[in-house]
Amino acid sequence: MTIPITYRRCFWLLLLVSLLAAGILADSLQPTCAACGRTIDGPRLQVDGRYYHPDHFTCDFCNRPITSDYMVVDGKNYHNSCYERHIAVHCAHCGLIIRGEYLVDYWGNPYHAQHQRDARQCKYCSRFISDHLTNGGTTYRDGRTVCGSCLETAVHDEDEAGMIMREVAGHLAEIGIEVDPDVIDLHLIDLGEMVSRFGKQSHNLRGFVDYHEKTSMLGVVKERTIDLYLVTGMPRRHTVTTLAHEMTHVWQYLNGRLATDPLFSEGSCNYAAFLVLLNYPGDETEYVIETLLKDDDPIYGEGFRRVMAYAESVGTGAWLRRLRSQDNLPRGY
Ligand SMILES: [Zn+2]
Ligand SMILES: [Zn+2]
Ligand SMILES: [Zn+2]
Ligand SMILES: [Zn+2]
Ligand SMILES: [Zn+2]
Repeated sequence: MTIPITYRRCFWLLLLVSLLAAGILADSLQPTCAACGRTIDGPRLQVDGRYYHPDHFTCDFCNRPITSDYMVVDGKNYHNSCYERHIAVHCAHCGLIIRGEYLVDYWGNPYHAQHQRDARQCKYCSRFISDHLTNGGTTYRDGRTVCGSCLETAVHDEDEAGMIMREVAGHLAEIGIEVDPDVIDLHLIDLGEMVSRFGKQSHNLRGFVDYHEKTSMLGVVKERTIDLYLVTGMPRRHTVTTLAHEMTHVWQYLNGRLATDPLFSEGSCNYAAFLVLLNYPGDETEYVIETLLKDDDPIYGEGFRRVMAYAESVGTGAWLRRLRSQDNLPRGY
């Protein structure tokens, strides 16, 4: 008896189909683990179309198995608690998790963007006020908001300010700007009074020098009064900066420079303050220096950068000689 060829073909074909089916069956019964790559014999987990040994589906933070609700972020799996505690970005102001885009302040703290509108920001360090980040803060009667950290060093007292003025006078003298602090009458006033007295003349209103002199017919100074007004309640680093700036004005006046071009004069005062700040290394100083360097004011910011370029090229001595004898920066600066 002969088996018809067609039957034989069908037989082989049938065999092939059943082998394929057995393979598929084996696959679906014993899938491989997407984590370790080995066949899964016993219980298995199915997540997003992949199979896992139950203890091989793990948290990408703590590496322990995930057995209940979890988060998927950027293709990684996390226990909810691991995500919330270690991965999620928490807002430095309200403490809640931030999803999507956010703001980062100078200090690297992340914030919900909405806090630009609904939170108070410290005038002196730009942090948003919060209990855990800045230890709270306050708003002075003149409208300035100051955080708890800046308040810790805030100078409200004329005696304390006087001591800082002497300290600053010492640092100024080291660079060649000699001012006897005893010739200065120091007054601490709030921002409201500063604005009403000198609002038109002063840039960001932290200090002001009111200088008066009476000269004889021969041009000899017979009498002079020097009142230095300082905004009260500024943190110590800003107080140092402002005193160094204003005392450099005093030095210019005492050297007879009453009409120095504002760009050269203010730029020099800021540059002197910058040099004094180098005696106070630390994060707050770096922040103040960065603010000076980035100031886009055409007199105070631009003047500072141009005087700095000039002084760094000719030297501190030559810069001060010019400031004592001329009203302008030389050409090219
Ligand atoms: Zn596995
Ligand atoms: Zn975990
Ligand atoms: Zn927030
Ligand atoms: Zn602050
Ligand atoms: Zn000034």
